[in-house]
Amino acid sequence: MRRALTAATAALTLTTAGTMLAGTPGQAAPTGWGRPIVTAAPQPGAAGLGDTYFPDYGNGGYDVEHYDVRLRYEPATDLLTGTTTILATATQDLSAFNLDFLLDVESVRVNGWAATTSTAGAHELVVTPARTVTRGQQLTIVVRYHGIPSETLVGGYTGWTRTDDGALAVNEPESAWWWFPSNDHPLDKATFDISVSVPTGVEVISNGVQPRPPVAEAGNRTRWIWRTTSPTATYLAFMAIGQYDIVTDTTPGGQPVVNAYSTSLGALGPAARASIERTAEIVDWESGIFGPYPFEAQGGVAGPIDGIGFALETQTRPVYGPGFWRRGANTYVVAHENAHQWFGDSVSVAEWRNIWLNEGFASYAEWLWSEEQGEGTAQEVFDFTYASYPADDEFWQVLPGDPGAARVFDNAVYDRGAMTLHQLRLAVGDDAFFEILPAWTSEHRYGNGTIEQFQALAERISGLDLDDLFTTWLFTAGRPDVATAARKAAPPTEPKSWAKIRESHHLLSH
Ligand SMILES: [Zn+2]
Repeated sequence: MRRALTAATAALTLTTAGTMLAGTPGQAAPTGWGRPIVTAAPQPGAAGLGDTYFPDYGNGGYDVEHYDVRLRYEPATDLLTGTTTILATATQDLSAFNLDFLLDVESVRVNGWAATTSTAGAHELVVTPARTVTRGQQLTIVVRYHGIPSETLVGGYTGWTRTDDGALAVNEPESAWWWFPSNDHPLDKATFDISVSVPTGVEVISNGVQPRPPVAEAGNRTRWIWRTTSPTATYLAFMAIGQYDIVTDTTPGGQPVVNAYSTSLGALGPAARASIERTAEIVDWESGIFGPYPFEAQGGVAGPIDGIGFALETQTRPVYGPGFWRRGANTYVVAHENAHQWFGDSVSVAEWRNIWLNEGFASYAEWLWSEEQGEGTAQEVFDFTYASYPADDEFWQVLPGDPGAARVFDNAVYDRGAMTLHQLRLAVGDDAFFEILPAWTSEHRYGNGTIEQFQALAERISGLDLDDLFTTWLFTAGRPDVATAARKAAPPTEPKSWAKIRESHHLLSH
């Protein structure tokens, strides 16, 4: 839920995208017979995917199907050594292509042939294969590397969190650069095998399931093996390495559950367990509203006391910082991060400007959970949230539908984002609203979406022109007028859920 890199990356511009799209003609054969054969010479893949906010994130020219990330980690020194094998398909003839990566690369092989590499921009590894790659060709890209992620900085920043007993590879949108080379944009999802060798006695938790138990290795080491079989955006892959108590179970529906609790939590441990142990119940409740749970496993990780200050909806298994447990159990953040499994993880942003599709929806899930728990209806939470921001508060100047790269996780994306969904619910009625939500997760399952596509779906199902509503609530500065009875009455009373929802949003946004 956190980013700090805008200044470092906003200045970068694409150097190859334009030429790639122009399709420069190649050398025509100098023959005197007939029409010259004009073939397009292979071009470098684009250095980015043209995201409005982060144009150099991701790369053009290929599509990844699978990452095999095989690592060795030393908690004592933060030394990470690894080999990542990328299975991909070329989407154009390629003379070279980029990976997003920051650690020191020892070698790259493409289909067995040693490739040459160089670095470019803030986080680009440029790979020039020994042989030209043709469109449609299957690629096996093997990258060997090492580095100290906590000391590998971009603009003074690392997305890697080193802790007393290990590390957390958990961040958004920039996380992969510090531990595996990738096509780092939600547009290119893939499956993952992640395995990590650590000193025996250290635990490693990651996405999905454990296809087999940890394996002993020479030198008093243990290799932990995790597998994700659902398409996963690169920023939703994670590792938590350190001292953890791991609790496994199976849901009534047969899904594996893996919860993990840092042993450093001390007095916060019971509140963490009282929250995360309710994951399966909350996911089941959310399935009844959002549609079938999209993934193969569930769980949560309570990170260490010196780890992250936020929480992230890492796929199948959110990771929570310790701050959420300081006032006792908080199931609202569990409802929020697991709602992201539908809104953000299964249906991902097509561009980062669409972040409302993630945070507005996950925040509204908290309001629905409040209603479910009898701690305040969504209307009551709306009224109190609305009243808590005076009309002249700068909160109302941020557009949830286009907050800008530096404000992707602004509180307005969360609170005004949830208010927007409540206004949509009032406008279309409960029947249509609760038809729109599962239709969205079904139609874009394992894919991507835009705000414009969501509006079109809401209009199709409701039969209403919703342009004024979306324009007013998502794309217009200033506090919109609402004329509910509650607004006209005395100041709304504080719902029971408010303190925890506010606390969660305070930690999640910034
Ligand atoms: Zn969120």
